[in-house]
Amino acid sequence: MIPVTQPFLPTKEEYQKYLEGIWKRNWLTNMGPLASQLEMELKDHLKVNHLLFVTNGTVAIQMAIKALGIKGEVITTPFSFIATTSSIVWEGCTPVFVDIDQSSLCIDAKKIEEAITENTTAILATHVYGNPCDVEAIDRIAKKYNLKVIYDAAHAFGVEINGKSIFEYGDISTCSLHATKLYHSIEGGLIITKDACLLKKLAHIRNFGISGFDSFSELGLNGKNSEFHAAMGLANLKYISQIHEKRKALTQLYDEKLKNLKAVKPVWHHNSKENYAYYAIVLESEELLLQLKTEMDKYEIFTRRYFYPSLASALPYLPKLELPITEDISQKVLCLPLYYDLTFEEIELIARIMLRIQNN
Ligand SMILES: *Cc1c(COP(=O)(O)O)cnc(C)c1O
Repeated sequence: MIPVTQPFLPTKEEYQKYLEGIWKRNWLTNMGPLASQLEMELKDHLKVNHLLFVTNGTVAIQMAIKALGIKGEVITTPFSFIATTSSIVWEGCTPVFVDIDQSSLCIDAKKIEEAITENTTAILATHVYGNPCDVEAIDRIAKKYNLKVIYDAAHAFGVEINGKSIFEYGDISTCSLHATKLYHSIEGGLIITKDACLLKKLAHIRNFGISGFDSFSELGLNGKNSEFHAAMGLANLKYISQIHEKRKALTQLYDEKLKNLKAVKPVWHHNSKENYAYYAIVLESEELLLQLKTEMDKYEIFTRRYFYPSLASALPYLPKLELPITEDISQKVLCLPLYYDLTFEEIELIARIMLRIQNN
């Protein structure tokens, strides 16, 4: 069996070492020493000034919307994971979907302006598969219309653009450290902002809005994460360059073996480098996709239609809107297995089977 993804695990001994300290201190959660250490090490690793470790990537988006006081309409992408859209609705705002760019698969910045109304207050865009949005164009539009910008950077761990972290763009960027992601803390999320005041506000929100002994500064929730999760994050961080190198090599082998497949890959932002979070391909047709997927299922090689269906046309709590490029791409996009323990032989097998099915 070859799953589409599999979490990276450090050795048991490495995780155990952190557990010793947890048992000694008996400090299990609430901004403990390991959570603080993880925040420090991540700031250093990612070269960002401010960062919070939170419960998960979804709560991170919800906290970002709340902290920025976003109300009314939020311009967003229909080509993302459900949490991007559901967080907007959960916070009482209205998602306004803008179609994606055919080659990057991120929101099409050229189509944002025509979607702005007097009720628009923000843009929430996803760096799809870690591929940066057109951040310069989005920044320009946000300034012109006085809009807040949040980037759902759940896939973008370690991505740099113009030589700095992609997390430094927008008012707030959020990341997911879920077990299925490139780098994980079992469950977990990150909130990054350049604004120190905003970070302080977010830190209060993370802790029920408590700002001191017996005092509250704002409406909050429980966005804290535990020492056990922080320990996994710390143990995994030691392997991050190894993880990156392995995924890069696996990706390059896929590229080579699948060069005759009737499919294209998303075009990466010209000033940025891949983080190899996913191996996504857009097939020539949905028919070919279904053929490949069904056959590979028989070999227990699991692929994932990610993202499918379009969030603009599939949610029971929103009016249906068919955006042509998103509809087309979401029907033809497929993510192939990619994870640290995947072997080169497995990729050769996957590629052989795929080409055989296509050429039949
Ligand atoms: C995984 C993911 C999320 C949600 O993160 P969780 O940590 O699972 O809550 C949000 N947006 C995107 C694009 C994701 O892939």
